[in-house]
Amino acid sequence: MRGIGKREAVELLELEGPAVLELLARANRVRHERRGDVVALCSIVNARSGNCGEDCAFCAQSGRARTRIDRYPLLPAERIVAAARVAARHGAACFSIVTSGRRPGRRELAGVARAVERIAHELPVRPSASLGLLDVADLRALRDAGLRCYHHNLETAESHFARICSTRRWSDGLRPIEAARRVGLSTCCGGILGLGESRAQRVELLAALRDLGVDSVPLNFLHAIPGTRLEREPPLPPLEALKAVAVARLMLPDRELRVCGGRGHVLRDLQSWIFAAGADGVMVGGYLTTAGRPVAVDLRMIRDAGLRPPARARGR
Ligand code: SF4
Repeated sequence: MRGIGKREAVELLELEGPAVLELLARANRVRHERRGDVVALCSIVNARSGNCGEDCAFCAQSGRARTRIDRYPLLPAERIVAAARVAARHGAACFSIVTSGRRPGRRELAGVARAVERIAHELPVRPSASLGLLDVADLRALRDAGLRCYHHNLETAESHFARICSTRRWSDGLRPIEAARRVGLSTCCGGILGLGESRAQRVELLAALRDLGVDSVPLNFLHAIPGTRLEREPPLPPLEALKAVAVARLMLPDRELRVCGGRGHVLRDLQSWIFAAGADGVMVGGYLTTAGRPVAVDLRMIRDAGLRPPARARGR
């Protein structure tokens, strides 16, 4: 099924009033027909936090931000596996090891590979990683250790990127996704909405993700952290965020569409509407530098919306 084009997508983002609910109903139908009624859960661990040399304006982990976060080097494999065990218990299908920074060094990569190997052998979750700008050789080694999926966000539209990050080019973000695909990994790539981009730039990002052909699209909403360059950026209004989810579903009808960071902060009481807007996946547990809510509450939300959590999470 072909998704809608950019022009229609921008027009839909302009809708106001009762027409917004009609947009959500349309996206919900596509979600039901193309993706079914089971909601995929994923979870992450912040395996190395802070002290990043990049200057992403939204990020509390940038070395240039004046933020109060825990900063630590790569966690030992045991701690990473323990976090994966918790994710598996919650029914997460996918567990991602995330590190701050442009890319890890050789010893850190070997440490991540050890954790991946144990997760792949011991737990019923798909090991994933988000380690920055890795190349084919790095990803092949991780794949051989048991990695199944690689994640790297484009963050925002190419035309907006220079206002968000000056230490790398937008196109740098394409390379790890292309490399992951070359070595046979599933690809997960999305961005953050609410970075001061226009509606047309939101659509530009979604079109880039469509053209890149990624398997899974995580959508995050900015949760502005004091001490970051975007600390004064107001949160997206909830209906604006939901319209973006719906337009993403209509542009990418067959892709997994997950709502991740910033969900509670931006959507507040409308969190459960993400499914009516077309999402078929959700990140549970905590995010990188902000806490999530109890997983049991998210599982209840999924059931209350008339959908099903994955089999392993049922009955909790
Ligand atoms: S988003 Fe990643 S690369 Fe950018 S500052 Fe944060 S940790 Fe560094």
